[in-house]
Amino acid sequence: MVLNLDTSLIREWDGYKARPFLISGPCSAETEEQVLETARELASLNRVSIFRAGIWKPRTRPNTFEGVGIPGLKWLRTVKKETGLPVATEVANEKHVYEALKYGIDMLWIGARTSVNPFTVQEIADALKGVDVMVFVKNPINPDIELWIGAIERVAKAGIKRLGAIHRGFSSYEKTTYRNQPNWQIPIELRRRIPDLPIICDPSHISGSREYLYEISQKAMDLNFDGLMIESHINPDKALSDASQQLTPNDLKELLSRLILRNASTTDPKLLDVLGELRQQIDIYDDHLIDLMEQRMKVSETIGLYKKENNITILQTVRWDEVVKKAMKKGLAKGLSAELIDNVFKAIHQESINCQMKVMNKGIENHNHTENK
Ligand code: PEP
Ligand code: MN
Repeated sequence: MVLNLDTSLIREWDGYKARPFLISGPCSAETEEQVLETARELASLNRVSIFRAGIWKPRTRPNTFEGVGIPGLKWLRTVKKETGLPVATEVANEKHVYEALKYGIDMLWIGARTSVNPFTVQEIADALKGVDVMVFVKNPINPDIELWIGAIERVAKAGIKRLGAIHRGFSSYEKTTYRNQPNWQIPIELRRRIPDLPIICDPSHISGSREYLYEISQKAMDLNFDGLMIESHINPDKALSDASQQLTPNDLKELLSRLILRNASTTDPKLLDVLGELRQQIDIYDDHLIDLMEQRMKVSETIGLYKKENNITILQTVRWDEVVKKAMKKGLAKGLSAELIDNVFKAIHQESINCQMKVMNKGIENHNHTENK
C-alpha cells in the first residue's frame, strides 16, 4: 500500500540522535515540577528524541486521575523551551487537537482506545487537515490490523506526511504475563503492507510492569522497529497513572545501555551467501506447507460431503479435541512452542470448518448480510 508519507520522519530525522529513536516521558503530566524534572533528566541522557506526557488520560474507570488538561500543555511548552526537546501528547478528539496545536505541541498520538473508533479518528483527521505536525497512530486495543491501517489511512488522507505507527499490544480477556499481548505478527504484517511507515514499539503498555521492559524493547529492536516509546517518571512509584510500568530516567539509561542493536541488513557477500542458502531451504518448506494445506483441505471437503449426505453436524468437538491434543504432544516433544501449535491448528480447524460449510450449504441461498468492513 502506498501512502503519501515523508520518510524523513524518524529514519532520517535530525532529532534521531542514536538508535533507537526514543520517545520518553511520564504516562501523565501531573505537576509542572514533575514534568520539568523528568524532562531535564531525560534531556541530560542525550538519547531522547521526543518528550511525551499524557494531558488527557483515557482511564478505564471513572473517579481516577483523568489528566491535568490544558495547564499541562503550558508545562510541555516550557519543556520545549528549556530543554529543546520536541514534545508529544495524546489526542482523543478534535478539541484536543486544536488545543495541542495552539500550544505548539510537535507530535500528537492517537491512543489505542481511540484508534478503534473510525468516527473519532475521522474527526481527528479532519481537525488535522492542512496542518504540518507529526502524528503517530497506536494500534487499536483489539488485534485488528485492518482497523489499525484504516486509522492510519484516515490520517494520511488528511495530508499528514510525517506519520508513524505505535505498537502497544492488544488487550485480552485472559490474564497473561504481559498487560497487553504483543501479537508481533500484526506489526510485522503492517510493515509488509506499508513499508515506508515508521513503526515504533511501546514496551511500557505491552509489559505493564518494569520487569519486562527490557525484553520487549530488545525484541522490537531485533524485529527492526524504528524506535521505542518508554514511559519514565522521576518518582515512578508515586505516579498517578501506570505506576508499575514507569522507569526513572536513570533506569531508562541503564536499559538503553543493555540493548543490543543489530544491523538491519548486510552487504557482506559471504554472509549473504549463507543467508541466501538458508532462505532457499525456508522457501522449499513453505512450498511444502502450502501443498500440505491444499491436500488437507481437499480431505476436509470430502468429509464435508460425507457429513452432508449422512446429515451429521460439521463441528465434532470430541474429535477436534483429540486432534489438538495429539498435535500439541507431538509438537512439544519436537521443541515447538505451544503457541505455534495452538495458533496453527486453530487456523487450520477454522479453515476446515469454512470448507465444510461451503460444501454443506452449496445451493442454499445465503442470507448473511453482516458487513462491517
Ligand atoms: C499512553 O501512552 O499513556 C496511553 C494511554 O497509551 P495506550 O493508548 O496505548 O493505552
Ligand atoms: Mn500510560
